[in-house]
Amino acid sequence: MILFAALCLLVLFGLMAFQALAFSQTRVPRCTEKDIEEAKSLASSAKLKISIAKEVFSETHPEGTVVSQEPAGGSRVRKGSLVKVVVSKGPRPIKVEPVALEAGKDMSPETVSETTSTPEERPSTPVLSTPVAPPPSTDSTSTGTSVTTPPTAGGKVVCIDPGHQARANLGREPIGPGSSQTKEKCRGGATGVSSGTPEYKLTLEIGLKLRALLEKKGITVVMTRETNDVDISNIERAEIANEAGAHLFVRIHHNGSSNLSLGGACTLYPADGSWTAPIYASSRRAAQLIQRELVKSTGLKNNSIFARSDITGFNWSKVPAVLTEIGFLSNPEEDRLLNTGEFQDKAAQGLFNGIVEYLNET
Ligand SMILES: [Zn+2]
Repeated sequence: MILFAALCLLVLFGLMAFQALAFSQTRVPRCTEKDIEEAKSLASSAKLKISIAKEVFSETHPEGTVVSQEPAGGSRVRKGSLVKVVVSKGPRPIKVEPVALEAGKDMSPETVSETTSTPEERPSTPVLSTPVAPPPSTDSTSTGTSVTTPPTAGGKVVCIDPGHQARANLGREPIGPGSSQTKEKCRGGATGVSSGTPEYKLTLEIGLKLRALLEKKGITVVMTRETNDVDISNIERAEIANEAGAHLFVRIHHNGSSNLSLGGACTLYPADGSWTAPIYASSRRAAQLIQRELVKSTGLKNNSIFARSDITGFNWSKVPAVLTEIGFLSNPEEDRLLNTGEFQDKAAQGLFNGIVEYLNET
C-alpha cells in the first residue's frame, strides 16, 4: 500500500514536471520571408523576443523582409528567448541620384578639386571684403504685414532657399542673364540611401528651423518656398532674393555621391565671373563664416568652400549668395542623422551662427 502511494506520488510529480517544462517552452515561428512587422507579431504571440541582428542589402528579398533567423522556425525554445533575424534593406543602390545641385555636378571632394586650382576657390585666410551694398529697401511701399514684403529700413533680410521641390522641372533656362547655355529649371535632388527621404523634404525642414531662429533675432526672412508642392525655377529663386533686397541669399542642399563612404559639408559661392563679380567677395565671406559655423555645430567633416560659375541660382542673383551642402544623403550615417530633429537643429543653428556673424560684419 505504501509502495503504491509512493508510486502514485512519483507519477504525479513526473506529470507536473513535464507539464511545467511544456508550459515554459514554445515553438519558434517561421519568420524568414515574412515582413519584419509580421515576424515581430508572430514572435510576440509565441512569447518570444525578436531582435534585428543585422540589416543587409538583398536582391532577392524586398526591403523589410526577414532574410534569415536564429534559431530556426519550428524549433522549441524556452519562452522569453531571443530570436535573432537578419532583415533586408532592399537591393544595393547602383546609382544615387546625382548630386543635389542644379549644377548637376557630383560635389564629392574629388570632383570639386578640379576647380580648386583657380585662386578664388582656395579656402584661404578670410578676406574682409567691402560688402556689396544691399539693394535699396522699398520700405515706402511696404505694408510690413508679411515676410514677403520688402524690408523695413535698417532691418536685415535673409532669403532662405530650401533646395529642390517635390516634382523636378526639367524644362531649361539660361544659366546666366543673356547666356545661350541652359540648364534644368529645377532638378530632382538626392535621396537618402537608407531612409529614402528626398532631399527637398529635409532642406525645407532645416530651412524652416533656420527661419525660426533668424526671426527670433529680429531678422526678416523671405522663403523661396514653404511647401514641397511648388514649381520654382532656379532663376525664380534668385529673383525672389533680389526682389526681397536680401542681405544674404542662403540656399540649403544635401549632397549625394555614388561613393557611399563620402561625407561632410561644403559651401559654394559665386565665382568672380562677369555675372557675379559684384557679389563675389561678400558671398565668399559669408561662405567662409557659414561653413565654419556649420561644421562646428554639426560635427560634419569640413569639405571646404568652393567658387562656382555654373550655378543658375548664383548667376541671376544680385545679392550675396551661398549654397551649403549639409552632409551626404548617400552616406548611411549622415542620412540617418539628417532625418533626426536633433541634427537638423544643429544644422540650423550652425547656419544661423554663420549668417549672424556675416550680417554683423556688413
Ligand atoms: Zn540639392
